[in-house]
Amino acid sequence: MPEGDTVARQCRVLHEALAGARIIRCDVRVPRAATADLVGWRVREVRPRGKHLLMRLEPPTPGVPPLTLHTHLKMDGIWHVDGRALRSSDTSAGPRPTDTIRVLLDARHEDGREVRAIAYDVKQVRLLRTADEGELVGHLGPDLLDPAWGEDLRAQAVANLAAEPQRPIGLALLDQQVLAGIGNIYRSELCFLRRIHPAAPTAAAGDLGEMVDLAHRLLALNADRTVRVTTGGMLGRDGDLWVYGRGGRQCRRCRTRIERGELAEPRLEGTEPRVLWFCPRCQAGPGAPPAPARPARRRTGR
Ligand SMILES: [Zn+2]
Repeated sequence: MPEGDTVARQCRVLHEALAGARIIRCDVRVPRAATADLVGWRVREVRPRGKHLLMRLEPPTPGVPPLTLHTHLKMDGIWHVDGRALRSSDTSAGPRPTDTIRVLLDARHEDGREVRAIAYDVKQVRLLRTADEGELVGHLGPDLLDPAWGEDLRAQAVANLAAEPQRPIGLALLDQQVLAGIGNIYRSELCFLRRIHPAAPTAAAGDLGEMVDLAHRLLALNADRTVRVTTGGMLGRDGDLWVYGRGGRQCRRCRTRIERGELAEPRLEGTEPRVLWFCPRCQAGPGAPPAPARPARRRTGR
């Protein structure tokens, strides 16, 4: 599942490539929107909202309401511009099979320059009135990468997190209705950095304002990078992350073996079991589940 920073980066590159250009060919290969004819429409902007991509379009003739082409990357979705993949930290950025194309747009700028944008494997492809975007994304919590991020959105995010004190912090962080933008990587990394076990209740997670500030800082930092880093980048090659994907390897702080666990919750979007990683020593603070019991040692007399 891509993180909010990946989506924001894709939107920025799409926006730079397409904003102002007029669509000259449009091929939407999902049944719901297959009849959409966007030829003649102009791309006004491409903006992220949490993990949703919103391509806002202006009509070729006045009086027609503006439309938004909505896509979601889900697990494997990716946009390419002129063959260039837009996903950060992507190891499979080469051309994708053509049967996974969901949207193909050719657009021409006023100076004659043409751009092609292709979405592979994206989900939730929808064309809707821009005025109705709220129906799709109105349920989302404060967006960590919202340009208007400030005291109000921060306070709302903290309040949302605090609203269910018994909910595991590892689930609350991933819930886009609580706050938007955190995926599986940041969920694990944030819990490690705050030294809280992901299964610990939110009430035990310490200062939630600091948690939100850290999440905002990490996503903002990585929105401009091609490789996602949470460690500050000082650990050299292969040193980008603290715990995510590092099961069985040594904790970078205390050398204990990193463990792999799962926390799934049916009410979350895209409900595959969500693997997570943590250090059982660094994250053994309040609320951590008890370590599995070791077999009792046989008494050996005195
Ligand atoms: Zn550790």
